[in-house]
Amino acid sequence: MVIIGEKNFQSISKVGIIGGGVSGIAAAKQLSRYQPVVFEATDYIGGVWKHCSYNSTKLQTPRCDYEFSDFPWPQRDNSSFPSHVEILDYLNAYAGHFDVLKYVRFNSKVVEVRFIDRDQEISTIDAHNHTLLSGKPMWEVAVRVNQDDTIQWYAFEFLVMCAGKYGDIPKLPVLPKQKGPEIFNGMVLHSLDYAKLDKESASQLLKGKKVVIIGYKKSAIDLAVECAEANQEIWTEADHPFEEDYASCQMAILPDNFFEEADKGRILFKRVSKWWFWSGGVQLEDNTKLDADVVLLATGYDGKKKLKALLPEPFFDILQDSSGIIPLYRGTIHPLIPWVAFVGYVESVSNLHSAELRCKWLSRLLDNQFKLPSVQKMLEYTTKEMEVMKRTTKFYKRNCISTYIINHNDEICEDMGWRPWRKTNWFSEVFGPYSNQDYQEHK
Ligand SMILES: Cc1cc2nc3c(=O)[nH]c(=O)nc-3n(C[C@H](O)[C@H](O)[C@H](O)COP(=O)(O)OP(=O)(O)OC[C@H]3O[C@@H](n4cnc5c(N)ncnc54)[C@H](O)[C@@H]3O)c2cc1C
Repeated sequence: MVIIGEKNFQSISKVGIIGGGVSGIAAAKQLSRYQPVVFEATDYIGGVWKHCSYNSTKLQTPRCDYEFSDFPWPQRDNSSFPSHVEILDYLNAYAGHFDVLKYVRFNSKVVEVRFIDRDQEISTIDAHNHTLLSGKPMWEVAVRVNQDDTIQWYAFEFLVMCAGKYGDIPKLPVLPKQKGPEIFNGMVLHSLDYAKLDKESASQLLKGKKVVIIGYKKSAIDLAVECAEANQEIWTEADHPFEEDYASCQMAILPDNFFEEADKGRILFKRVSKWWFWSGGVQLEDNTKLDADVVLLATGYDGKKKLKALLPEPFFDILQDSSGIIPLYRGTIHPLIPWVAFVGYVESVSNLHSAELRCKWLSRLLDNQFKLPSVQKMLEYTTKEMEVMKRTTKFYKRNCISTYIINHNDEICEDMGWRPWRKTNWFSEVFGPYSNQDYQEHK
């Protein structure tokens, strides 16, 4: 226990990491030289692969792309998409192999973060004049352990935010008065609550029932197959071309027997932009009434609310730009808040790959192998990047780099003093696909 002023701290450490999903584990491995403290709210690692997954949930990225650069999948040439259970096994094997679990404090939910504003004025911070590990604590972190009432305080020089964009906080539809779930006689469940059910309870819930699923993205598609024996699904409007889904990191791979179930008429599709409840089910804008016993809301998650609950004022307001995107330099550092890194907040076709490479970059940044540019230069960079993103992701307002990930990675390599051309010959460089294996340390 360390006492500073009137507060007792469990410890004062260099690096704290919030979240033990793929991003938090990647960060813990890459920053292991700082003996980081990883706070994980639950009693497992893996985040969404545990708490947003159902029996049918599989990886959508080919397994050899969703792979740590120094830890190949056991059967990496197997072309099947691994199930969420296989992903959890792989992640646990990785954490075990690199002895990362010793840093993780399970059942430790971060409930408050305070910034120690040494200059009394956040805007005066220009990290490029400082080393990010200054030798003085910059953050106080309050942690609730095992859902107890007692709060433990920790202090850190640098924080890595890995709390995830999905899960934890459901995004619920806003419906007109008297047309919400309160008037419905059946059961309404968000996909997050459905994911908590074990196999037996989920099958009991759906058996012989008429089910309506609201949504059309990955969660809805997986749920549709699970509910196929129970009949109906509506898909809300998806009125935009395929390449916008790709550029917005929103492509969904259909589960194995999706078309089979649809052909049998067990999955029905409705394209609507407005809907509401009636006592017997769901009513659509053309006044069609769908009967339902169960309505499943696959309406997504509110990752920003999660960040807002954690970050002290005025950081959250500074964090996102006017359109709601969070601009991050090299996908990791907000130009105006350099003492915290955000990992897992840019998306690509392989979020594991994006997280791991950015953690390698972060580890060298904290090690002073290179410095951040001035705030002005970082802002110019992020503004330019946001303009590209707004042109390509007009529907989703998300930080998605899938269309220019190679350029992004090239810049990261250059910062780290690595060759951006990662292949051994020009032929592979021009014609070969890039994977995470190309970003091994000693290539
Ligand atoms: C259904 C689904 C399918 C997906 N498929 C793919 C795919 O095919 N390919 C791909 O690249 N990506 C996919 N993704 C994206 C996926 O989110 C990322 O690949 C990656 O797993 C995200 O990891 P993360 O660690 O950033 O976040 P998360 O997995 O969300 O982990 C965050 C962790 O932080 C913890 N936490 C949150 N708040 C606190 C707090 N206050 N205190 C302590 N701990 C906290 C949570 O408990 C959780 O364990 C998918 C996502 C979903 C939901």
